[in-house]
Amino acid sequence: MNIKDNLEKIKNKIPEHVKLIAVSKTYSIETIKHAIDAGHTIFGENKVQELVQKAQQIHSNIEWHMIGHLQTNKVKLLLPWTSLIHSVDSLKLVKEINKEARKINKIVPCLIQIHIAKEETKFGFNETELYSFLNSTDFKELNFIQFKGLMGMATFTDDVKLIRSEFMYLRKLFEELKKNHFSESPYFKELSMGMSNDYLVAIDEGSTMIRIGSLIFGERN
Ligand SMILES: *Cc1c(COP(=O)(O)O)cnc(C)c1O
Repeated sequence: MNIKDNLEKIKNKIPEHVKLIAVSKTYSIETIKHAIDAGHTIFGENKVQELVQKAQQIHSNIEWHMIGHLQTNKVKLLLPWTSLIHSVDSLKLVKEINKEARKINKIVPCLIQIHIAKEETKFGFNETELYSFLNSTDFKELNFIQFKGLMGMATFTDDVKLIRSEFMYLRKLFEELKKNHFSESPYFKELSMGMSNDYLVAIDEGSTMIRIGSLIFGERN
């Protein structure tokens, strides 16, 4: 397996404006360094401890994105090390991020995670929860959060039609929010959707960020 070739193959298939997040969860620092040597600069992790440990050990100028479910008690540890949190999935969580961000005087870029899959185990707001969040007084007080867009994970299935419909739904929701809730914000422009098995469909449906692990680094154990 050649990480540099894998990265190139993917980059050749995607438009220039789409950002590739190399999902390095479970992979060693050694392995990640191969991707850095190949010129890659954005990495995604789904566990706070693992992200922070890797960020502390790798001194190259790279970005770390938090893509997994985030517990409120880990927010403080995470904030100094991440440049984008993809997985804001509750009001409680975003209030905690705002509180800790204020303490260190850092504006934290975040994506709102939307539940689009059939699996109940996946995280994210449903539409009702989302609108009650956006219309709450709490929302207006999140001065240290920079909302940059939405994130979603499609159902894990071979049914491409289902996957496409889920991404299409997310894209429509994104456009609606951009127009009606974030029209004042120049930052709300990212749509994080697409993984190893569905990124081409996601790009077709308007993704601006794809999160790819196994296709770059090989199957995880
Ligand atoms: C693991 C993970 C990915 C990447 O999955 P692959 O199938 O290895 O590409 C993307 N997004 C999230 C949230 C993940 O946890």
